[in-house]
Amino acid sequence: MSHIDTAAITMPTAPQWAEIREAVARLCDDFPDEYWRRLDREDAYPKDFVETLTESGFLAALIPEQYGGSGLPLSAAAAVLETIHDRGCNAAACHAQMYTMGTVLKHGSEAQKERYLPGIATGDLRLQAFGVTEPTTGSDTTQLKTRAERNGDGYVVNGQKVWTSRAFESDLMLLLARTTPAAECKKRSDGMSVFLIDMREALGNGLTLRKIDAMINHNTCEVFFDNLQIPADALVGEEGRGFRYIVDSMNAERILIAAECIGDAKFFLRKATEYANEREVFGRPIGANQGIQFPIAKAYAAAQAAELMVAKAAALFDAGAPAGEAANMAKLLAADASWEAAEVCMQVYGGFAFAREYGIERKWREARLYQTAPISKNMIYAYLGQHVLGLPRSY
Ligand SMILES: Cc1cc2nc3c(=O)[nH]c(=O)nc-3n(C[C@H](O)[C@H](O)[C@H](O)COP(=O)(O)OP(=O)(O)OC[C@H]3O[C@@H](n4cnc5c(N)ncnc54)[C@H](O)[C@@H]3O)c2cc1C
Repeated sequence: MSHIDTAAITMPTAPQWAEIREAVARLCDDFPDEYWRRLDREDAYPKDFVETLTESGFLAALIPEQYGGSGLPLSAAAAVLETIHDRGCNAAACHAQMYTMGTVLKHGSEAQKERYLPGIATGDLRLQAFGVTEPTTGSDTTQLKTRAERNGDGYVVNGQKVWTSRAFESDLMLLLARTTPAAECKKRSDGMSVFLIDMREALGNGLTLRKIDAMINHNTCEVFFDNLQIPADALVGEEGRGFRYIVDSMNAERILIAAECIGDAKFFLRKATEYANEREVFGRPIGANQGIQFPIAKAYAAAQAAELMVAKAAALFDAGAPAGEAANMAKLLAADASWEAAEVCMQVYGGFAFAREYGIERKWREARLYQTAPISKNMIYAYLGQHVLGLPRSY
């Protein structure tokens, strides 16, 4: 049990970090819908956008000041990502360094922090690849097959990952691999370890990447490890405890992605409301029809409720209290709220929603991802059912 009195943690009643939100919104104004549409067409990485965010320091929000960051809590990072999505941009190109940061900060050695964090803060080093999902085991993470075996001074890695986003745009990868065969472990979550791999040295020397042609411009890849030799000091924390470390990163990831979903929901609701007020058919604004107005109102209420859960999850996480339940619910409710708002917006725009220049269909495709990744809804229902409510395990 945690020693933290969770009842004493105060929840923000209004969106926090107003100055950060304003500054990020100003920065996003330089990256309008045409910018993202062009990248979509060219299947290209938003290099300029990521560089601007890095130079402004926002991407280093969670890095402690002693390593060149601003040492802010997760709620501040959530405000950055929410605003990016609210302004019609997409943070998926660069959000990974925020949610992997917890593992490095909490469990990394002082030498690893000194070696990597200042470079990540300045943008000279990119920590954007998070290698967990595998093609044959999917959501069943504890069964993953990528092996890292002790070999002289280091480890040799063999296996495969899939959907490792931004791998071509990253210098470092946080990798979860099995170090002790599952059959030799008491619990299936034992025997896995986390490694911080320098991809610059590894590419072409046992590490191969292949881009996946996906429905959204997400720069996501298949990753192949073929006798990749890595040094012993790539290990983060203790060998065999990696799954526990990653769970903490996953809670951060769920909260941050939930914040992005809230931003998406706000984007869609603003667009839907504006259009419903402007567009006149049958001699009156379409928003005067209850069939248009009520779904917008319902989606608004859902987004407001989800936003409260995201704030609660971030407050618990920042207080060091157990955040798994709230983080999972935040992700679930926010992803549903953003998808509801996306669907409503598509409908409100009628045929024009399908014209790319209106900027709705791209966001609609992007919002769909969060029904499935980084954790699918069924897995959250299973977590709540089995770990929170005490229902029987189904797997
Ligand atoms: C664009 C994109 C980017 C991604 N980026 C990353 C990344 O950077 N790093 C990374 O590690 N992963 C990443 N992922 C992977 C993502 O986390 C997984 O796709 C997701 O967790 C689902 O796993 P899966 O695709 O293997 O689906 P599966 O595990 O095969 O599941 C398929 C469906 O079956 C359901 N299901 C499975 N088992 C059960 C059960 N027991 N009960 C009920 N329903 C069940 C699931 O809910 C899902 O709907 C990304 C995925 C996408 C699409």
